Amino acid sequence: MTSPVFISINSGSHEKPLKKCSKCGEIKPFTEYHKASERKIGIKSACKVCCNYAKAKTCVKYKEKYKERSKKWGNPETTKKREQRKIKELTRSYINKLLRAQYEITTNEINKIPQLIELKKVELKNKRLCQKN
Ligand SMILES: [Zn+2]
Repeated sequence: MTSPVFISINSGSHEKPLKKCSKCGEIKPFTEYHKASERKIGIKSACKVCCNYAKAKTCVKYKEKYKERSKKWGNPETTKKREQRKIKELTRSYINKLLRAQYEITTNEINKIPQLIELKKVELKNKRLCQKN
């Protein structure tokens, strides 16, 4: 009788533990997540890129609201437009970062393929919709 063959799976201690991001769905090493001591796993559910984007977005909204209140003569129309423009810029750089990490390409290459950005946007939107249900 032949002895069973054991396949050695390379899971040495040098390998970094990986986790799937709850926002972008990318599988990233723990070092790509902010620490969260209140969580059992010790890190946030979304990666640094996603967390930073969410934080920056909240910040823009808050700032514009504050400006709107402090300037009584401020035109709400322009405030809203400025807020939307800033968020658009944030979203673009966020998607850029995700694409760069996912495909290991440069910003120049991404700009040459605008469909990539649109695809990623749709992907993220679908993800959000799925999580809501
Ligand atoms: Zn992420």
